[in-house]
Formats: sequence, C-alpha cells, structure tokens
Amino acid sequence: MTLSLTFLGAARHVTGTKHLLTVGDKKVLLDCGLVQGPRKMAEHANRNLPIGGGEVDCVVLSHAHIDHCGALPRLVKDGFGGPIWCTRATADMLRMMLTDSAHIQAQDIKHLRKHGHQVEPLYDQEDVERTLRLVRGIDYHETFDVVPGLRVTFLDAGHILGAAIVVMDTDVDHRQRRIVFTGDHGRKELPILRDPERIPECDALITESTYGDRLHPPRVDMASELQRIVEEELHDGGRIIVPAFAVGRTQSVVLFLGQLMMDGRLPKLPIYVDSPMSREATKIMAAHADLFDKETSELMRGGHHPLFFEGVRYVADVEESKSLNEVREGVIVSASGMCESGRVLHHLKQSIGRKQDCVLLVGYQAENTLGRRLMDGMDEVRIYGDTYKVRCKVRSMSGFSAHADYSELLTAERHLAMRCKQVFVVHGEEEPAMAFAGRLRDVGFRDVVVPAKRDCIDIA
Ligand SMILES: [Zn+2]
Repeated sequence: MTLSLTFLGAARHVTGTKHLLTVGDKKVLLDCGLVQGPRKMAEHANRNLPIGGGEVDCVVLSHAHIDHCGALPRLVKDGFGGPIWCTRATADMLRMMLTDSAHIQAQDIKHLRKHGHQVEPLYDQEDVERTLRLVRGIDYHETFDVVPGLRVTFLDAGHILGAAIVVMDTDVDHRQRRIVFTGDHGRKELPILRDPERIPECDALITESTYGDRLHPPRVDMASELQRIVEEELHDGGRIIVPAFAVGRTQSVVLFLGQLMMDGRLPKLPIYVDSPMSREATKIMAAHADLFDKETSELMRGGHHPLFFEGVRYVADVEESKSLNEVREGVIVSASGMCESGRVLHHLKQSIGRKQDCVLLVGYQAENTLGRRLMDGMDEVRIYGDTYKVRCKVRSMSGFSAHADYSELLTAERHLAMRCKQVFVVHGEEEPAMAFAGRLRDVGFRDVVVPAKRDCIDIA
C-alpha cells in the first residue's frame, strides 16, 4: 500500500503550509495554511487550493498561526467535511484566528467593492462556523486513530500556546514506521510556554527551516532589558507604545512588566492592552494555564497571575480605546506588531510627535512596514495618509522570536541522525532551506531533501 508525502505548500516558502500524507487510499492533510505575500500571488493561491476539499479525508493541524490554519474554511467551502484534529488549546485559538481572518476579508472586500471590483471573499464567518464544527481537540500525549493504519500523538512544540510536534505512527503493510512533523519549532526559555519536547526517534522527519541560515542575537535577560528601557524612557514621564502581535508577544510583555513591578524593579505603572484580539488571546491563554511552564506556574502558586494583575487593563471598546489619548504616562501594548493596521496606529498618531514618549518594537519588522520605517530612524512617516514628524524615541528589543534558529534546530534534531532514513526540509525560503539541509547532512543525516511544490515522495 502507498505511504507517501506530497508537498502542496510551504515547500521552499514559509507560508501556506500544506503537506499531504497518503496512507493507502486515505489522504491526511498536515496543516492548511493561508499563503501570504504579494497580494495577487497570495490571492490566486488561496482561491485555487492545490487539492479539492472532497479529496481529503481528514486534517491534522500543528498550530493556530494563520499560515498553518487560515485556508481551512476555504477547504470546507471546497467540499471538505472530515475531522480536523489538533490540541485543545489550538482548537480554542482557531476560533479566534479564523474569525479574525474572515473579518479582515470582509473589510477588504468592502473596500474593493467601493472601488468597483466585483469580488467575493475567500470565505466568510459562516464558512468559519462550519469549519469549527469539524474540529476535534485532543490532549498532548494522547494517541488517537486518524485513518486506518495511522495513529497520531501531539507533543509540545514550545512555539505558541497549543502548538504541536506531530508524531505519526503507521503500520501500513505490517511495517511499523514513524513520521514526525516538527510544525513550527519553538525555543527553550520562552516566557510562559514550556520548552519544546524532545523529538522522538523516527523513520522520516519533516522539519521546518525558517531560520535555516540564521542565528538569533545572543540571549539577553529579557526582563532586565525591558526594565532598562522602561527606566531610561519613563524617568521623566511620557508613555511607551509597544506594537505587538496579539498572540504570544503581547502576553510576554505583560508578564515581564508585571513581574518587574511585583519585584519592585519598576515603579507601579498603568499598563493598557488595547486590541480586541490581544484581549481574546490572553483569555484563551489564561484558560489553558495547565500548559504554562514551571516558572509561570510557580508565579501563579505564589498568588501573582502573570496576565491579570493590579495595574493591567484590557481595553474593550472603541470609546475606551479613544480615551487612552488622555493617558500621558504608562505603557500601551497594542496590535498590529508591525504597525500596519489596528488600534496601535491611533496611539502612534498621538505619541509620535512627543519627545517624552517612546515606541518600543519587540518583533520582526518586515520591509515596507511602518514599524520598519520607525526602526530605520526615518524623520517623517505617514499614518492614515497624513505625514508626521518623528520626535518620540524609538527603541527595539530582540529575543522574543518564537522560532528556533539553525543552531537550536540542529540541537533538537541531531540525535535522530543515525536512525532517521529520510528528512524533508520545508517551511523556509529556498536559501535557508538548502543551507539547513546542508547542515543536517554535515551532522550525519543521509537522505535529506528540500522538496519543491507538488513533489511526491514515497516513505521508505
Ligand atoms: Zn507558527
């Protein structure tokens, strides 16, 4: 019987993850992510999925980032009706991520129609609801049957809450074979999250390679770094605007600030988290406190909640968000992380011209984003079509990346070199993927492939 992998997305790219595992006559799709990038290309790829919904028997989902799950409602719209397996925390995150994605599309469509374009969204909230009804949440370490001859177990990937390393055991043709999919592999010592679990021995490994040719800057004590910046910037008043992704980054910043204040290392400052999605994501994280790491759990046992404590306020409605214009001191954490949209733009408009205020960038800033322009020290920037002089201070902090770099990935995988017969390097642009494949060969892996899109390879 057939046992093969077909790479339908994130092959020599980082978005749109879709790997198809064929087990006999059953087809299991690993992740079903949105393609992101130049608008026309992404639009075309997301509208014309590389596989029909009716051809797929079930989906196994590694985590709830949109480049891994965002095309699921489209697959459902195209006729998919099987189960979607993921961890329980991912199931909760999924509702929020897909609802937000449908909302963004509805807004885009409104805008396009106003300009005379007759287009339909990729999917709407109704498609999202139909998708969510197919989701089956499973605990980490629980083994379950997916299709005849294939059992799956999720291990903690330490990347975002709920993210999993997917372990697939098959007995096709009475041969025991194990395939492991890293999903997005996290890092040790990320705030709140547990460290990635050890990747078990396997016959075939599908590994990500986002940072296949790069190293993160040396680790700094993030709390101390944050303390230093806040002290330097706020000693004579003013406020700090922190643009941050709703999932992960926002909660890390809140956790550090709370700890620093609790330990008396920072004065008590008001913290405002102003993004509906950040608020929602924080609630979901708090509901899965059993997945927190040891340090965070100890903090909680000591009576300090890492995300909800005196002084932190999660802003709900637009009116309250507007009222933050009056706030002159404290920290405002708001999305989006690269200052491309969302409420953070309103706060930047207020603060950007004020010398005493500061913008603190805590994430990767892509080319051509407002965040990048600020980081590059531009004197003037445009926000909502108006030009503003940048008088505030701009600081940035690294260390928050939730992806392993190549050295961390090699450390996580090298013990497999002798046993693992095939490695497939995915989820990296061509150069990092090729570079990482070379590094895997250097440490003793024999059959290492960087598949191109639509490549179909038998599992040995
Ligand atoms: Zn991810």
